[in-house]
Amino acid sequence: MPQKILVIDDSSMIHALLTARLKDEPVQVTFANDGPSGLTSAGTLLPDLILLDVDMPGMDGFEVCRRLKADQQTRDIPVIFLTGASETDEKIKGLDLGATDYITKPFDMAELRARVRATLRTSYLLHLLSKKAMIDGLTGLWNRSYFDQRLTAELSLARRSNKPLSCIMCDIDHFKQVNDNYGHPGGDQILRDVAHLLVEACRIEDVVCRYGGEEFAIIGPNTHSQGAAELAERLRAGIFETEFHHQGASIRITCSFGIADAQCTQHIVQSADEALYRAKRCGRNRVEVQKAEPASNRPAA
Ligand code: GH3
Ligand code: MG
Ligand code: MG
Repeated sequence: MPQKILVIDDSSMIHALLTARLKDEPVQVTFANDGPSGLTSAGTLLPDLILLDVDMPGMDGFEVCRRLKADQQTRDIPVIFLTGASETDEKIKGLDLGATDYITKPFDMAELRARVRATLRTSYLLHLLSKKAMIDGLTGLWNRSYFDQRLTAELSLARRSNKPLSCIMCDIDHFKQVNDNYGHPGGDQILRDVAHLLVEACRIEDVVCRYGGEEFAIIGPNTHSQGAAELAERLRAGIFETEFHHQGASIRITCSFGIADAQCTQHIVQSADEALYRAKRCGRNRVEVQKAEPASNRPAA
């Protein structure tokens, strides 16, 4: 997919010039004529780079940059200032506001392309790095830190749109024995295989994470606890019936599941965890759904 560039500049000549000169680059360029419409486009488009004119009637480029950097959604988008001024003060001001770079008008097109390419390269690497920080190295699933962030966002979305949301906690039973019998590499193989099995069985919109150790967590947007329980039962049966392999050995495992529903509890993870521990106490290899809570513990409608 081409990287996206947003140009915010009041001059239609600049628009035409940039369209012509960037047409051979693997980028998709969008234009805005003033600060306010540029801010709106930045929020909806979430471009990989913004080329921002300093001198614009109404809201100038500095103010646009200040607002971009104050908004959590847009603050990490790199900004290159297009400035007519060669005064050092103005360049420093732009960089101090969080801009990545500046280009002085009238600009040399070869230099502009080189600076755009360099900034896009850095922005791509930063994006990869931040994604990597949210991925569990062993299983390739989302990690705990991503789970926490995503759950907060999904809870807020579910409450605003009055949609259900469920959480499934899954813990491998007697996993310590797997490590004891087949060594840590054997245990690691099982973790990877279970992760794969979970992802394969879930819907694309379900968020499958490694919560820690041999515990997994699944966020089910738009899913009541009943639907989540059906999914968990399918997962439980699938794992129970699977013959896992490590270095020629055949390994059988089971998993226990706990489920909670955001419409029935304010503490969805804690409730799913309590259900999970009930599944463990009741003999493992089973699915338990949170018990109904007193009305006072339920989120306000
Ligand atoms: P229970 O049925 O009660 O859940 O028993 P359990 O043995 O699964 O649970 P326990 O908490 O006693 O042990 C979990 C084990 O998981 C111990 C720990 O060494 C192992 N473990 C945690 N993370 C990893 C990992 O990344 N790789 C491997 N191989 N083992 C891990
Ligand atoms: Mg366990
Ligand atoms: Mg555990």
